[in-house]
Amino acid sequence: QLKDNTIIIVLGASGDLAKKKTYPALFGLYKNGFLPRDVHIVGYARTKMDEAEYHKRTTGYIKVPEGDSETQAKVEEFKKLSSYVSGGYEDGPSFDNLNKYLESIESKYQSKERNRVFYLALPPSVFIPVAKNLKEHCYIAKGGINRIIVEKPFGKDTDSCRELLKALKEHWTEDETFRIDHYLGKEMVKNLLVLRFANIAFSSGWDKNSISNVQITFKEPFGTEGRGGYFDEFGIIRDILQNHLLQVLSILTMERPVSFAAEDIRDEKVKVLRAIPPVERSDTLLGQYVAANGKPGYLDDDTVPHNSVCPTYAATTLWIHNPRWEGVPFILKAGKALNEAKVEIRIQYKDVTQGIFKDISRNELVIRIQPSEAVYLKFNTKTPGLYTRALPAEMDLTYKRRFADIHIPEAYESLILDALKGDHSNFVRDDELDVAWKIFTPILHWIDGLSGPRPKPVPYPYGSRGPKELDPFIAKYGYKRSTEGYAWPVTNVS
Ligand code: NAP
Ligand code: NAP
Repeated sequence: QLKDNTIIIVLGASGDLAKKKTYPALFGLYKNGFLPRDVHIVGYARTKMDEAEYHKRTTGYIKVPEGDSETQAKVEEFKKLSSYVSGGYEDGPSFDNLNKYLESIESKYQSKERNRVFYLALPPSVFIPVAKNLKEHCYIAKGGINRIIVEKPFGKDTDSCRELLKALKEHWTEDETFRIDHYLGKEMVKNLLVLRFANIAFSSGWDKNSISNVQITFKEPFGTEGRGGYFDEFGIIRDILQNHLLQVLSILTMERPVSFAAEDIRDEKVKVLRAIPPVERSDTLLGQYVAANGKPGYLDDDTVPHNSVCPTYAATTLWIHNPRWEGVPFILKAGKALNEAKVEIRIQYKDVTQGIFKDISRNELVIRIQPSEAVYLKFNTKTPGLYTRALPAEMDLTYKRRFADIHIPEAYESLILDALKGDHSNFVRDDELDVAWKIFTPILHWIDGLSGPRPKPVPYPYGSRGPKELDPFIAKYGYKRSTEGYAWPVTNVS
């Protein structure tokens, strides 16, 4: 663990990620006493700005409750340990200048130990020159630890990912590298290990014998809204499914690791991912939102090519060929401009043996990742009163109610702290990325028109649940929706 004399260098400090996520997370850690003693934060980017402008940008998204003078005082302290250096990404002298600045801070340390953590909040076009320049000009060769944190996108398919990894590996070892998939920092995703392996009640039915189908769903209620340029190049599969949802799937389905050690967990994740063949076209549903309810369609966004066939919705079904999961469909679905904001895992169990009960609701275990974390099991109970009918109800763990006074950290807080501790468990390993790309590369090439004509996504109205083809698509894999008798009391917290 990096305890003392550490500088965290945020490259791309003028950008969106830095402002919205990195600095607020660093502040959250600082406020709660989790940053190393005598820590310094140094922002770096090309934009010329004075300290006042830098502080304004980097603290603008930090939430200070009205009248909370203690937090306000912490923000002022935080500003004092954070400063900015401007420079380019491609030229050595700029990095020499940054190095001199870092040394001037380090010269004031009492002990000789010095550590540097480089956080690349940068577009991928400069990942490689920056990684190279940092190694050549800002690396502590002796008496300290160097770490580099990188953000997705890690390539666009198997080959480009391999090229990027190879180029970064020329300068940084796997041990020094922390690849962020911020879903791995989310509280409920981290809870999966405990839910699965600390509960016999769940783990004993966690297989093809009990489970009919699984959906992992990401829903966003807004479209690209003028920021479609970046999205159009990537599409919803690269944006959400290939990384975030597949990470969730791997933890949900892997075998029990021998310990909580990073490599033990990551070994199991890679093993299960290797048992998944590439997604078939016939197991894919692609959609694109169109104008509805006064909201613009995807093609109305001026930053998107007028004839784009980029999918803004995708449902893909994955199969795991191992003894635990053979035959169970895992439906990964994600979309923009839908009817709600939600990320959840929905595990639907098989029907009970027919006989005394006929056509009753199936059990469902729902793990809601966001918003409002919750775990609930939909199960059947006797209708109260003079009946022997089965009635669906729920066993419910709603975090807001059960853990009312507990602060749930932001994903980025949790991940930056792990990187400071040197714990790789919640970061993506090189071989994990490789196998994740192998699963999606063939359909991505099909969508990109590299293996024949490009498929045309089906339209769906802005604000709907997705394409009308979705329900038959899911039913095809055995999902049975039963609404009869089930109602979530509106008075409940959710
Ligand atoms: P950004 O705002 O577009 O870029 C960050 C900074 O990089 C900019 O302020 C700019 O700083 C510099 N930059 C931008 N375009 C450049 C270019 N073409 N060449 C050289 N420098 C350039 O990006 P971001 O949204 O912060 O995202 C950073 C990284 O995190 C990306 O890899 C992104 O995919 C990933 N990510 C972002 C989010 C998010 O919420 N934004 C979420 C997950 C992952 P200067 O001009 O001052 O040098
Ligand atoms: P639900 O909202 O009924 O959705 C269940 C599944 O059916 C989802 O896969 C959904 O797909 C699909 N679906 C939704 N509407 C549909 C429609 N009109 N036609 C066909 N399929 C449809 O989920 P639920 O688990 O039974 O929960 C019902 C409500 O109770 C929700 O609002 C839930 O938040 C609430 N609840 C809350 C808690 C809690 O907060 N602790 C506990 C229990 C229940 P898509 O996801 O793709 O739309």
